[in-house]
Amino acid sequence: MHRVSLAGNLTFLSTRNFDFLRKKVARMGQLASLVIDMGEVRLIDSTGAAFLIDFIKELNSKGIKVVLKSLNRDCRDVLSSADSEGVTRGSFVTSESDIANVLDSTDSYSPRSRLLFGVEQYRKERRKAYEELFNQLGQQQKPHTLFITCSDSRINPTLITSSEPGELFIVRNVGNIIPPLGADQMPAEGAAVEFALGALGVRQIILCGHTRCGALKGAFDGIDSKKFPSVAKWVEPVVRERKLYPDINDPEMFTRVHVIEQAKNLLTYPVVDQMVREEKLSIHCWIYDVQSGEFFEWTGQGREFLTVGPNSLHGNLGDIFKV
Ligand code: ZN
Repeated sequence: MHRVSLAGNLTFLSTRNFDFLRKKVARMGQLASLVIDMGEVRLIDSTGAAFLIDFIKELNSKGIKVVLKSLNRDCRDVLSSADSEGVTRGSFVTSESDIANVLDSTDSYSPRSRLLFGVEQYRKERRKAYEELFNQLGQQQKPHTLFITCSDSRINPTLITSSEPGELFIVRNVGNIIPPLGADQMPAEGAAVEFALGALGVRQIILCGHTRCGALKGAFDGIDSKKFPSVAKWVEPVVRERKLYPDINDPEMFTRVHVIEQAKNLLTYPVVDQMVREEKLSIHCWIYDVQSGEFFEWTGQGREFLTVGPNSLHGNLGDIFKV
């Protein structure tokens, strides 16, 4: 399986793009399939659609299966209406895991080639735009927020907060768990909290839980400790947390109180406690919905979470739990 990308507008002006692609594909030698990453294509007109369909037909005639990845819906519609022969039928995929499903079993999906392609794309298309920022960040980092969330692959903290490198100091683990001070023999989370606040000058903490969390579901359903001894041990605090909320039998509802409990655990760290007392730190609890891509923030009242907006002022745990 090989990959190429198309970007921008595909119109009558795009003949050169396809000539370039043809040469590139020819240099790849014999291939069974080609993934065309179209996530950066903004517009296709009928001529651009015809160029693309001809290109796919050429590849198909050589026995090459073509997969069109991440093309937006408007462009897909234009392409489909120009495709009277059904050349693109079954070619559209949304995610990487879809690609593996449409490939022949003889042409297996390669995670390594996926990442190498991604690195190359970044080098060619994106890195230059960050030159100045990277130069500055090379001297020091000065993140404004400690962002704590789950390892779940559906959460991309920088994407969903439109943040740049250098802004978020990120702590991730299975279930976005913050053990209280002294509870963990290898206090990885505590070390990150102390370093972010004490050394880097971070003034805000976002604790971001999420819907459909496998760790919370595991804590509800039980975990096979023979097969997953580390997971079973790691989620023990969550199993204990459940006892605090005997009325909650749904992991989705539990997500809310779980994230609030982690924020309380944060306050066991002296650096957090001190900064909260001095009103130098704000702490907020968020839930990220992995399906809608929407955020909700704890209001500080009961189990109430409201959509995060530019003027959200509620939910500073520093104010709520300050003693
Ligand atoms: Zn999770």
